[in-house]
Amino acid sequence: MKHTKIVRITDVEKDKALLEEAGRIIRDGGLVVFPTETVYGIGANGLDADACRSIYTAKGRPSDNPLILTVPDKEAVKEVAACITPTAQKLLDAFWPGPLTIIFPRQKKVPNAATGGLDTVALRCPDHAVCRAFLRCAGVPVAGPSANLSGRPSPTTAAEVAHDMEGRVDMIIDGGPCEIGVESTIVECNADDMVTILRPGGVTTAMLERVVGHVQVDTSLVTGQGVPKAPGMKYRHYAPSASMTTVIGSVSAVTAKLSQLYEQYRREGLSVGFLVSAEVASHFPQENMYVWGHHDDKEGLANQLYTGLLFFDDHRVDHILAEGTDSEGLGMAIMNRMKKASGGDIVIL
Ligand code: AMP
Ligand code: MG
Repeated sequence: MKHTKIVRITDVEKDKALLEEAGRIIRDGGLVVFPTETVYGIGANGLDADACRSIYTAKGRPSDNPLILTVPDKEAVKEVAACITPTAQKLLDAFWPGPLTIIFPRQKKVPNAATGGLDTVALRCPDHAVCRAFLRCAGVPVAGPSANLSGRPSPTTAAEVAHDMEGRVDMIIDGGPCEIGVESTIVECNADDMVTILRPGGVTTAMLERVVGHVQVDTSLVTGQGVPKAPGMKYRHYAPSASMTTVIGSVSAVTAKLSQLYEQYRREGLSVGFLVSAEVASHFPQENMYVWGHHDDKEGLANQLYTGLLFFDDHRVDHILAEGTDSEGLGMAIMNRMKKASGGDIVIL
């Protein structure tokens, strides 16, 4: 077990010495958990194969699931990408820093241990002052997948990180709760410069289309068939311990369906939890309930989704009855995660 130093950093000037210490840990091959605007990341030197491998060990992550390298600015892309197409440049200019990960052909110095053996590398520059100051101190691209044990929901607070990672990493930088709450959108620009979404996230299809025209979505995400282009998308991520049913529709339709399911589970003698909006919540017993926002506020729902799923690890129930949202805008990212969390058990009304 490692000794994990937990530090709270809000002011990058005042806490410069701690950020420099974090940067040294990275250069020395250690692991530092850092905040971003999406979820917390577990960082290692992305150019050091052994350091990258230690991320897989700490997370219990399958080794064919490549890592995203985080960089402090657009300039750093040139150091690891073999080329930047005009469309990729447009995306960089429009969305960085921000929740958009772009796949580039890799330079040879990026180790197989970071890319899962692929000849491409995923890059992102988070829109988070503490994170970018940390990355500058590290002075190398930092491989940074979400800081959860593999298969668990991604952490959006330092307390959730500590639950999974204390004793497994050298340092946790607590930068407060994450603003967005779901992971970055991952896109690939292919040879004819068509942009394809491999994982929906904080940057929506409409936002991308405003910058690059038409955008495709990896067909396996739409149909559930075939092999996803982002290897990580095939795993059952984001799962709470209990089984879960997600119901989508108007407040009244969702309330009626959840009432029916609730009675059914109770008759079977099972304990039930609710992950629902404030509008639906008032109709059900308040115990074992996580109110994750308002029916029509997708930003709020995205922000609370993982904390809501983790709530049911502390408040053990046999089954979670959850309210989903439509797949417009940020709803595509939310529902992608909820589909996995509920093992595909989705009811659309
Ligand atoms: P996480 O860092 O936990 O958010 O997961 C990273 C995601 O990025 C996984 O779904 C990976 O499969 C995906 N990814 C990383 N590198 C690549 C790449 N070169 N090509 C396609 N997907 C990638
Ligand atoms: Mg993850």
